[in-house]
Amino acid sequence: MALLDVRNLRVYYRTPVGYVRAVDGVSFEVGEGEVFGVAGESGCGKSTLVHSLILRKPPMEYKGGSAIFKGRDLMSLPRDELRKIQYSELSIIPQYAMNALNPTKRIKDIVWDLAREHGYADRREVEELLRERLSMVKLSPRVADMYPVELSGGMRQRATMVVSTLLNPDLLIADEITSALDVTTQRVVIELLHHFMQEGIVKSIIFVTHDLALLRQIADRVMVMYAGKVVEIGPMEEVLENPAHPYTQLLLNSLPRMGVHYKRERLSGIPGYPISLLNPPKGCRFYTRCPFAMEDCRDVEPKLVKVGRDHYAACHLLGGES
Ligand code: SF4
Ligand code: MG
Repeated sequence: MALLDVRNLRVYYRTPVGYVRAVDGVSFEVGEGEVFGVAGESGCGKSTLVHSLILRKPPMEYKGGSAIFKGRDLMSLPRDELRKIQYSELSIIPQYAMNALNPTKRIKDIVWDLAREHGYADRREVEELLRERLSMVKLSPRVADMYPVELSGGMRQRATMVVSTLLNPDLLIADEITSALDVTTQRVVIELLHHFMQEGIVKSIIFVTHDLALLRQIADRVMVMYAGKVVEIGPMEEVLENPAHPYTQLLLNSLPRMGVHYKRERLSGIPGYPISLLNPPKGCRFYTRCPFAMEDCRDVEPKLVKVGRDHYAACHLLGGES
């Protein structure tokens, strides 16, 4: 059984002029022991998707579907239940991890507040665990006594990773955590995530990024999103070798040669901008930018079809069987 099973999830933003359909019928599973990549340009809904699993607050609104995590639907769990499983079962390293820690508290106080909320009673034990984890990420145990502002950006990033994983969450979500980092620091972060998996600190990871070259270093499978929809999903290497969807193909073409990291979120290789998600067209949402667009594409929504082993893509060029 999958650790997380998301079915036809819809999460919109309410605005004065209507709903922005940021996540519009997304389905996927994350298995135990798996690193699942979510890729796509800025604004494709990837951040909204993962944040909706943890905390939904206005203007974000749940509009349908389910997200079954360890047998419970995250979409119908009461707020206090969601709080209880946060950090201990499901945890997120936020996009701006460097600035995520409360600046007015020492690292050990941040961690103690968190642990106490989850039923831990022995402060010494928690601080010992903290020091252990700090050295695991190659930070001095003295960092426990410091305030976030006393740490450099890279150190703060690692401290945030320690805080997010201290209570051994089954599923760790990493949302664009590497986009502000230089290549060397990116590599360190990826290695740490590998390490967390190997040590059994986390069971599975959802790694969100616009950077497919980086994703290749960590993900077992990848889901490519475009304008609130899944356009392709499959094993990482298979999708890189045989991308089936025109958008994935263009994304890959816009990557520089391997080893050189791509930092900008806007893709120079794909002309035009994504469509507005306020009143998206009923057909293919890539229609306005697709070099292969046909008559049908504007009005008929392409469904995901099987294109290989565990590999699916949604495009009329690929036929209609689902
Ligand atoms: Fe392009 Fe049509 Fe395929 Fe959409 S369905 S990606 S517009 S060919
Ligand atoms: Mg984002």
